[in-house]
Amino acid sequence: MEKKYLFSPGPTMLPPGVLLKMAEPIMHHREPEFEKIYAEIREGMKYLFQTKNEVLIFTSSGTGAMEGAVSNLLSKGDKAIVVRGGKFGERWGEICKAYGIEFIPIDVEWGKAVDPKRIQELVESDSSIRAVYTQASETSTGVKHPIQAIADLMKRYEDKVVVVDAITGIGVFDIPIDAWGLDVVISGSQKALMLPPGLSFVTLNDKAWKLVEKSTLPKYYFDFKKELKNTKKNQSSYTPAISLYVGLRETLRMIRTEGLEAVFHRHRTLAEATRRAVKALGLELYAPDSPSDAVTAVKIPAGIDGEKLKDLFFEKFGITVAEGQDRAKGKIIRIAHLGYYERLDMVMVISALEMLLKEMGYSFELGTGVKAAEEILMK
Ligand SMILES: *Cc1c(COP(=O)(O)O)cnc(C)c1O
Repeated sequence: MEKKYLFSPGPTMLPPGVLLKMAEPIMHHREPEFEKIYAEIREGMKYLFQTKNEVLIFTSSGTGAMEGAVSNLLSKGDKAIVVRGGKFGERWGEICKAYGIEFIPIDVEWGKAVDPKRIQELVESDSSIRAVYTQASETSTGVKHPIQAIADLMKRYEDKVVVVDAITGIGVFDIPIDAWGLDVVISGSQKALMLPPGLSFVTLNDKAWKLVEKSTLPKYYFDFKKELKNTKKNQSSYTPAISLYVGLRETLRMIRTEGLEAVFHRHRTLAEATRRAVKALGLELYAPDSPSDAVTAVKIPAGIDGEKLKDLFFEKFGITVAEGQDRAKGKIIRIAHLGYYERLDMVMVISALEMLLKEMGYSFELGTGVKAAEEILMK
């Protein structure tokens, strides 16, 4: 018998009730039936993003909204600062390059969070710097960046914004967008939103919308101004992924029923249990100083083949965990705990980790990790 479990930081596991809703016959997106759904989604998104501003929705993976946050905010001659502490930070640089935007990278050692002081120094250095691009949670390394501190320092500038890729942050840990004064925040459907891939989200404050007004870079599909106009009419500029919107209404209802505070608390608990468990097994965290509650990156101990470990997870237990990317390939595995995950899910994945490590010759007492996790999960 074959049973499969996703513990990758996107796509993540999906609630059965949401899957059933998405399997219903499709409706037409220019009809009142769809507009009613969109109206409810708009409210739910404002709750989830903790903002009074509209959250734009695009039919694309998360990278689509990231690209839009370059093409809609910047103009020819503008410069950007890019926090590069992993694969997704690098992506900001690649998008800037594609649009002919000169960017200054802040290279952060993988597994470490950016020091806001480095941003502060650079922001002052050049008046054509228009935006700082960062992640809230760098999924490739399991690091949480200090975005509140970055928002604080960017508040002093009327014509410079901070853009946060919070694709594994929103719905995982507290990011009060309006309260912190974050200018632009992005998310996507296939992580904490408990949906399949296919939707990207972006919200902007007034300061950011002023840059959009001035922006001269080319754009067509990801046209924020056009999308905002249509959003306010409960419409999407082009044919939206209708079934995903139907699913989104469901998951937003779930989040609202659970309550944001409880959602954050659940993620904190699952993350803490995972971290305690791997440490109890004598393993090290890849991001010990500033770990994200979305995903735990664990260093592969000496003598264990990391790629083999990842493959065995699937072969023996049907579990997908993520391996390291690029320079972290073979050095880490990443265990996700964002979205539709509960306490016993973590017991299962840690138990599987123990059985595999034992089989591969790593020395420890079986049950050590599970016990450490249970102690956190029982609190
Ligand atoms: C998943 C993810 C993305 C988006 O990637 P897509 O494959 O385009 O959905 C971007 N940034 C971070 C931090 C992510 O975790």
